[in-house]
Amino acid sequence: MKHALAFDIGGTKIYSTTIDETGAVTGEIDKFSTPKTLDEIKSILKTQISKYEDKVDAIAIATAGAVNNENTGVIGSTGNLVQGYNSIDFQKLSTKKVFLENDANAAAWAEYKIGASRGSKVSVLLTLGTGVGGGIIINDRLLKGKSGAAGEMHFKMYPDKRRKCTCGGWDCFEIYASGTALKIDAEEALNDKNVTTYDVIEGVKQNDKKMIEILNRWHNDIIIGIKGLTNLFDPDCVILSGSMAQFVDIKRVEEEVNSDIVTTPTSVRLATAGNYAGMIGAALLALERTV
Ligand SMILES: [Zn+2]
Repeated sequence: MKHALAFDIGGTKIYSTTIDETGAVTGEIDKFSTPKTLDEIKSILKTQISKYEDKVDAIAIATAGAVNNENTGVIGSTGNLVQGYNSIDFQKLSTKKVFLENDANAAAWAEYKIGASRGSKVSVLLTLGTGVGGGIIINDRLLKGKSGAAGEMHFKMYPDKRRKCTCGGWDCFEIYASGTALKIDAEEALNDKNVTTYDVIEGVKQNDKKMIEILNRWHNDIIIGIKGLTNLFDPDCVILSGSMAQFVDIKRVEEEVNSDIVTTPTSVRLATAGNYAGMIGAALLALERTV
C-alpha cells in the first residue's frame, strides 16, 4: 500500500498527516498556525518532511492559490499568504516526488473518489468559507485550464461595482457567496459594521425576520452562481463544502437552481469527505502519479 505525506496550507493554518492510496488518514493530524514569513513556512514543511519522508512514496500538498499544470508550484490567487509564496521551489524540500494541487481542486477530487460526488461524470465543488474555492471535474479529470487556474470562483455577479473582491476585482461570486459575503449582507442590511455571521445564524434560529432576510439574500446570490455553473458545465452534482456549507438550505438551493436552468436537473449535496478532504485529494492525486 502506497502512502503520501500530505499538507494543507491555508492562510491561517497548516495541517499535515499521512494518507494511504485508499484515501484513509493513517497518521496523527499535526496542526500549525501559518507563519508570516517564507522561511518559517519552509521550515515547518522541512521538519515534517524529514520526519516522514522515508516512510512515504510522495509528498502531497493542497494549497491556497492556483497551482500550475505541472503541479509543482503556485501561480497566483494567494492574497492571504505571505509575499513570495509563489516562488517556493517545493520539489527542493524533499527527495521524494512533491505534488501540489489547489486546495479546492484537491477537495473536489476527494469528494469524487471517496465522497459525495463518487460515480459522477461531471461535478462542481464549492468550498464556502472565509472565501470561496472551486473545483470542477469533467470525465475523470480535474479541469485545470491553460495555466492551472480554472475553477477559481471569480466570475462576475453584478456589473455595477458594488463590492470589492479579495482578488482586487469587483463583484466576483466569492464576495457574494462566502462567509465574508454573509457578513457584508448583514452590515449593509443593518448598517452595522460590527454584526457577525454568528449574529445572523443565531438570529435566524430565533426567527428574527431581518436576519432571515439577510440569510435569504445570501442564498439568492449562491443560487445565481450555481445556476450559471450548472448551465456552463451540466454537472451531475454540485457539492458544497467548507465551514459555511452547514448554513445553506441545500434542498432550497437545488429546487431553485433546477427551476431555471437550460440543462437537465443537477443534484446539490453537502460534502462528505470531511475536514481533511484537501489533503486526501492531494494525496490520491499524488499517489496515482507515483510509480
Ligand atoms: Zn474576485
